[in-house]
Amino acid sequence: MNKKLHFFQSIHFKIALVFALLLLITFQIVGAYFLQQLKREDIKTFKQQTELSSYVDNSLIHNLTKSNIQQADDNIRDLLEDTNNSNITEIQVVDTKGTVRGDSDVNNQDLVGQKATDSDIKQVLYNAKTYTKLTYDRSDNKRYYVSITPLFSAGGNTNTLVGAVYLRASLEPVYSALNKVTTIFVTASLIATGLGMILAILISSAITKPIDEMKKQTSRIARGDYSGQVQIYGQDELGQLAQAVNNLSIRVEEAQEASEAERRRLDSVLSHMSDGVIATDRRGNVIIMNETASEDLDIDANIAEGQSILDILNIRGRYTLRDLLENQDEIVIDLSDENHEQILNAYFSLIQRESGFISGLVCVLHDVTEQQRIDRDRREFVSNVSHELRTPLTSVRSYIEALNDGAWKDSQVAPKFLKVTQDETDRMIRMINDLLSLSRMDSGTAKLELELVNLNELYNYILDRFDMMLKNQQHNKKAKKYSIKRDFTRRELWVEIDTDKFMQVIDNIMNNAIKYSPDGGVITCRLLETHSQVILSISDQGLGIPKKDIAHIFDRFFRVDKARSRAQGGTGLGLAISKEVVEMLGGKIWVESIENKGSTFYISLPYEEYEEDLWDEG
Ligand code: ADP
Repeated sequence: MNKKLHFFQSIHFKIALVFALLLLITFQIVGAYFLQQLKREDIKTFKQQTELSSYVDNSLIHNLTKSNIQQADDNIRDLLEDTNNSNITEIQVVDTKGTVRGDSDVNNQDLVGQKATDSDIKQVLYNAKTYTKLTYDRSDNKRYYVSITPLFSAGGNTNTLVGAVYLRASLEPVYSALNKVTTIFVTASLIATGLGMILAILISSAITKPIDEMKKQTSRIARGDYSGQVQIYGQDELGQLAQAVNNLSIRVEEAQEASEAERRRLDSVLSHMSDGVIATDRRGNVIIMNETASEDLDIDANIAEGQSILDILNIRGRYTLRDLLENQDEIVIDLSDENHEQILNAYFSLIQRESGFISGLVCVLHDVTEQQRIDRDRREFVSNVSHELRTPLTSVRSYIEALNDGAWKDSQVAPKFLKVTQDETDRMIRMINDLLSLSRMDSGTAKLELELVNLNELYNYILDRFDMMLKNQQHNKKAKKYSIKRDFTRRELWVEIDTDKFMQVIDNIMNNAIKYSPDGGVITCRLLETHSQVILSISDQGLGIPKKDIAHIFDRFFRVDKARSRAQGGTGLGLAISKEVVEMLGGKIWVESIENKGSTFYISLPYEEYEEDLWDEG
């Protein structure tokens, strides 16, 4: 666009050229006219100079009328020899009979006495009128002036023709003088034209300089550089144009800044939106994509640019661009794979001009993964709770029915039946209590009663209770046998916890370890610390947990073996509650397990080392 202008294409050159041509034409016309006039004048003067004096004329007339021809011819020759006119090349005197009576040219003396051959001379003798002509002699390349004048003798009233004088004069001096003038004139006009051209270049550069500056400034504006200003040289049209260019530059800059600010505002709105936004052109190719959308769809905005929205959303095949344009309902886009769940709702709307012309499409992506998960969890939870409660209730009802039908009279069966109903009711109460505490933790209404506790002591205390239980059941043959091994750090670990809740967690894990351990299994309880946390672990030698279930072990109502868990009075909520509690205390709970070998449950809690000295001093 901004091609360098060639000098010969510039206005600058054109103005100078026109100026020079004008000068040249003027000189041509003036020169032609002037030279023509000069030539005419010069020839006129020349003619006057070549005219013979009246003395010569009269003498010639006198001699021509003489009867003594020989003497007359001698007189004529003398006369012609005396005629000293440098312009005249030849004078010939002819009598009325056409006989040459004298010739000024020494070489032409033999012509004397002979008839003149020139037809013009004959014509003059016949017409008795002066004849003049300008001729060009090819033999010597010279121009000549020829004049043939009739000679009359004055006698009485009538003039009698006595002869004629043929006169030939070279015009070369006149023409060479004219040539000199012409040369001077041409040289002068060329010099004038040259000077005129230089002057024109200077003047036109004064005109084109501001134009050139404006050209440069406008191309700078086009490039987006508004810093420059065109210099204003005067108040003429160019000055006004320069002013207009400067104003334009300011206006364009303002407009550019405004639209830039608008774009930044839009960018910041888009980038801070929690929803993904994609804008496309008329053909559905992505032109803008905000960060959220690029994160949701896991594609770089730069890569997405220019691609079809159908490919970006991976909905080609299900929808066409026409579907999106015509029917702007929401679309559910499921991007889930085995390890990652992601569901997006896509809402479409058109970008339409006032004329109704559709210039693009805007797609808003709303991540509904969490919402869908919560919905699903809630449904599952309700169905689980109903299921969990229905089973014990059905069994309670069947026992009560049996009792009602008369079993109550049977002193053998009735107590057993009643025991079962009581156990089932207890389990239901436990379950409802568990659910209540979970719901309290969910809603955030569960209060923690934190206190600084010596964890070694607390852990020992809990395990002591299990040892005691074991001792109490020693005589019960049916009771499961197990032993508890303790492997504690020597260091006293003080941590801030809610003792009751924490005891519940350890109870839970210990009960599970016992429940799922084989008879006579060893349960190893460890307590150790790192510089920022304490770690408790409880390992059993039980049946372990299948790998696929490990991720779900802390889910509500999850059990590896539902029947077995229920038979042992489990609610399937113990580990879920434990997890909530540990997390409320800022810790973590996890499990490592090998099927048929055993499981180890770990609990880590945040821990700050207390300076022992501090205690000593205190
Ligand atoms: P439950 O009341 O069924 O014990 P939990 O939430 O305490 O409920 O445990 C959930 C499930 O985790 C149990 O049903 C069981 O399948 C599995 N589980 C828990 N602890 C162990 C363990 N130490 N060994 C093997 N499986 C276990």
